[in-house]
Amino acid sequence: MMRKLAAGNWKMNGTRESLDALQAIASAHPEPGVDILICPPATLLLQAAALSADSPLSIGAQDCHSAASGAHTGDISAPMIADAGAQAVIVGHSERRLDHHETDADVRAKAEAAHAAGLLAIICLGETLAERDAGSTLDVIGAQLEGSTPDSGDSANTVIAYEPVWAIGTGKVPDIAQIAEVHDFIRDRLTARFGSTASDIRLLYGGSVKPANAAEIFAVRNVDGALVGGASLNAADFSPIIAAL
Ligand code: PGA
Repeated sequence: MMRKLAAGNWKMNGTRESLDALQAIASAHPEPGVDILICPPATLLLQAAALSADSPLSIGAQDCHSAASGAHTGDISAPMIADAGAQAVIVGHSERRLDHHETDADVRAKAEAAHAAGLLAIICLGETLAERDAGSTLDVIGAQLEGSTPDSGDSANTVIAYEPVWAIGTGKVPDIAQIAEVHDFIRDRLTARFGSTASDIRLLYGGSVKPANAAEIFAVRNVDGALVGGASLNAADFSPIIAAL
């Protein structure tokens, strides 16, 4: 049985005192029926992983380099993330694609590096508003999915997050039919490529998920969890989202 996943992406937020939120989330869900993952900034990975070791939370990073080591100032590698005690890494978030000009090929190489290091890769896809308005959402998502997902993908090491760029941090959310259309499309494409393991690859929705809209989104077919930004920063918001899964 596939376990649903509530993943929090703290982005460039959080100092050591933010680790209190981890403990508040862990103590609110002592025996969760779903997986809970928090992705703090890299500076907190080691401490977050140590704090979460005996809790139901797992810890992930927000990006990794595709190489295991080398002359890449400022980057961190997948083996370093695993060594810090984390289990997962987000790759290809739209903010990375935009701010750091990451291509599908870059994202795929990062996901391969994550798999090689034994990490779960959360591969993000999403169309811009201009692309949606032009009617090219499924073409964009199909191309990103194909280009960003490595052949090493399976249900144990890969999660796909559909995050419309225009829904991230804006309070705007696609309607239920729009979410269903994209998630069904992703599931079909994964099945065509990977066969039976694809039915257990978790598909997350991300973009302005809040306590008030979580239950409605989670009721959509092929939505197996959420990737949550702003509302994952504190237990008061993230906990009801976890509970809604
Ligand atoms: P948001 O961010 O929940 O703050 O909209 C989601 C994300 O970027 O993963």
